[in-house]
Amino acid sequence: MTTRIDAALRQVSDTRCLRIGTGVLASVTEVLSQYFDQRSAVVVADENTFAAAGKLVYEQLQAAGHAVAAPIIFPGTPTPYADFDKVLVLEEAFRTCDAIPVVVGSGTLNDLTKLAAYRTGRQYLCVATAASMDGYTAFGSAITKAGFKQTMACPAPRAVIADLDVLAQAPPELKASGYADLLGKVTAGADWLLADALELEPIDKRAWSLVQESLRAWTAHPHRLRDGDPQALSDLFAGLTLTGLAMQLSASSRPASGSEHRFSHLWEMQMGPAAALHGFKVGVGTIAAAALYERLLARDLTRLDIAKCCRAWPSRTEVERAVRQGHDHPQLAEQAVAESLAKYIDASRLRQRLLLLQQRWPALREQLQAQLLPADQLQSLLQAAGCPTDPTGIGVSWPQLRASYDLARTIRSRYTVLDLVAETGLLAECVEELFAPGGFWARSSQGQL
Ligand SMILES: [Zn+2]
Repeated sequence: MTTRIDAALRQVSDTRCLRIGTGVLASVTEVLSQYFDQRSAVVVADENTFAAAGKLVYEQLQAAGHAVAAPIIFPGTPTPYADFDKVLVLEEAFRTCDAIPVVVGSGTLNDLTKLAAYRTGRQYLCVATAASMDGYTAFGSAITKAGFKQTMACPAPRAVIADLDVLAQAPPELKASGYADLLGKVTAGADWLLADALELEPIDKRAWSLVQESLRAWTAHPHRLRDGDPQALSDLFAGLTLTGLAMQLSASSRPASGSEHRFSHLWEMQMGPAAALHGFKVGVGTIAAAALYERLLARDLTRLDIAKCCRAWPSRTEVERAVRQGHDHPQLAEQAVAESLAKYIDASRLRQRLLLLQQRWPALREQLQAQLLPADQLQSLLQAAGCPTDPTGIGVSWPQLRASYDLARTIRSRYTVLDLVAETGLLAECVEELFAPGGFWARSSQGQL
């Protein structure tokens, strides 16, 4: 795996150094000296990650004679949330010195530091504390601004240090979350195949293979991960790292984020900071997307009535009205309108797109079938990893899940299966099938629907 990571590292432009292994925490001072021009540093952590590794990093830097500013430590509870106000807090702190930010933490802390470091024109070093998501080595930062979660463009860290002993000590739900984020690449990949076939977003083969080539192997043994097997944890982290590098390589989250992330981001915006872990929402979103794909793949789209689809196609104004009405939160509604209109096509372009779909469907269907896993199987894998497997496990109600099949499409212009079912006029009937007696969600809800 190290060879693959090293090879990937040579292809990307931001990250120069990746140290993954047991005991690598001790290399912080060496990495700082070797990969950064500046010798002074400032540690960013929260109370939990400071106790887990931050204090040690801080002491090492001091002992090695680096000029170390007072650490910036966010409260441990409630868990910090990646909102734009905190980016501004960090930015202000960074502007008072010229130190290299050394962030010790996982998703939120890394996202906050990544953007604040970029906005203050400096590179940063990331010390990972949990195998909880794929953002360490990714281009871009997932930040909520004015109630709307978005990926803001900014470079990945120059160096990442991930000590497997530190990762193993993290709360077990964090690695379960990382597992689910990785498993989500099954549907993310399917959505990319779709966008590629419709000539909307071509597949970048290098980024694709970094994520997809070993995805089945990385996700095959959730029990081992749950039981604390060090190799399983190491494999998970390698998978998350390579996925991040794929995003860095394409300067886009497309290789790692499709319809499953639309569900996850929608729920996060609906529920706010108290929502479940990122990977847990992605996991349920992955099941939701895979179940939708099953309904879609059960159909022969070569026989699609294109004229009927075009007649039923809403105008721009109708889309705007429907999207605005669909969201309760006004700011979310405004952003969703902007994203939906950005991908709006008129009926004549829809006709062209559906003709292309019809022509490519037999080959595309085979590709999608090979890429996807059955929703039942995804559910079993997630359960074995210790993840929630239905909406109630992440605080989403059954009616909210049902409505999400329509709303999740609206929050981003990126093309996914959610768009395809809308454009082919199949959304309502596919969702009906999922929730009707005997349908996928009716079965998994065990009578709670
Ligand atoms: Zn993710």
